[in-house]
Amino acid sequence: MNKTPFLSLEKAQEIIKDYPTPFHIYDEKGIRENVKALKEAFSWNEGYKEYFAVKATPNPFLIKILQEYGCGCDCSSKTELMMARTLGATGDDIMFSSNDTPIQEFKYCNDLGGIINLDDITHIEAVEKACGKLPKKMSCRYNPGGLFKISNDIMDNPGDAKYGMTTEQIFEAFKIMKEKGVEEFGIHAFLASNTVTNDYYPMLAKVLFELAVELKEKVGVHIGFINLSGGVGIPYRPDQEPNDIRVIGEGVHKVFDEVLVPAGMGDVKLCTELGRFMMGPYGALVTTAINEKHTHKEYIGVDACAVNLMRPAIYGAYHHISVLGKENDECNNKYDVTGSLCENCDKFAIDRMLPKIDMGDILYIHDTGAHGFSMGYNYNGKLKSAEILLCEDGSYKLIRRAETPKDYFATFDCFDFYDELIKE
Ligand SMILES: *Cc1c(COP(=O)(O)O)cnc(C)c1O
Repeated sequence: MNKTPFLSLEKAQEIIKDYPTPFHIYDEKGIRENVKALKEAFSWNEGYKEYFAVKATPNPFLIKILQEYGCGCDCSSKTELMMARTLGATGDDIMFSSNDTPIQEFKYCNDLGGIINLDDITHIEAVEKACGKLPKKMSCRYNPGGLFKISNDIMDNPGDAKYGMTTEQIFEAFKIMKEKGVEEFGIHAFLASNTVTNDYYPMLAKVLFELAVELKEKVGVHIGFINLSGGVGIPYRPDQEPNDIRVIGEGVHKVFDEVLVPAGMGDVKLCTELGRFMMGPYGALVTTAINEKHTHKEYIGVDACAVNLMRPAIYGAYHHISVLGKENDECNNKYDVTGSLCENCDKFAIDRMLPKIDMGDILYIHDTGAHGFSMGYNYNGKLKSAEILLCEDGSYKLIRRAETPKDYFATFDCFDFYDELIKE
């Protein structure tokens, strides 16, 4: 089983002449084809809208591509809202799905006209306080507790998650908000992450649709939209069967017709806040092998590290690796592929069978397009990489420059040793 890079060795070598490794590269063609397929899959629902989860890949050039297909921005912090604003997103183009929210951020979102999706019942008062009064349109995040299962498989553990309101609280919240003049309501839930099954969205839809009917009947509110949030996953491993977004869309359609339509709620708009599904497979981390070490194990040291891609270090996540130009070679060498952090978890792969790697070989780490660059940090004084877009016509362009020591030291610029610090 294998995975095919969207970048050839020749193209990589050409790009590296301009922009040295490590860098993240994104595949414009793949991004466009995928967003088109998503829109198509939900085209049966009038008003359907994807709010791209900005935190997954906060790059304005990439989000702009999605905007061409009508996507909005799902934000969870002030800086993400600022990016959305800069991209021209306003009003219904912004979903603010935050938690543990600083009160001023509600005001910032409201000033942009974005939709506030409340994580907690106590935030009703916070929004009132911050904005003067409640906006006409509001959403609440739901957490039914317990385990989220598909047949006997445990998908995730909402009962252990900090997000959302209990069933009792969401009924109470809707009553209060209705009394306070809110006219249009939305509900939202995110109950399982990175699901690689076509059943997650339809199952989640059933939970949310049934709740919506009950809220409408018992509280008498107008449910305008239902937000299925993120959680549709991607096959990081080569032996995983990818989700079929068409099947997912049809699965949700069926539940919609069974639950909402008979309740007279066939006008409800659906939305999603996908991050990983929109960008994950269409990004890769390109890095060069710079050291080899033969001790108790065989190590290949590369010029990227966990600062560029944290998922393996913090979750033990699998990311497939191709050695460019050696895609068809036999994988008969067992390596740990490491970064340079002073942390033993800084390994992109452990006991991975790969072709024989020579120094200078270019490694392509798959599926870094979401929750890749964006999770980066600066431990060990390591700098964040550039981001590059591989355009549809085969050309490439820089969409974020690499950090320099000056960026790393920028927050000392108010002290007199700063000039000395940034001298190289
Ligand atoms: C992270 C997040 C998403 C996106 O999740 P993916 O797994 O990337 O699809 C969507 N909504 C909220 C509120 C999130 O926190």
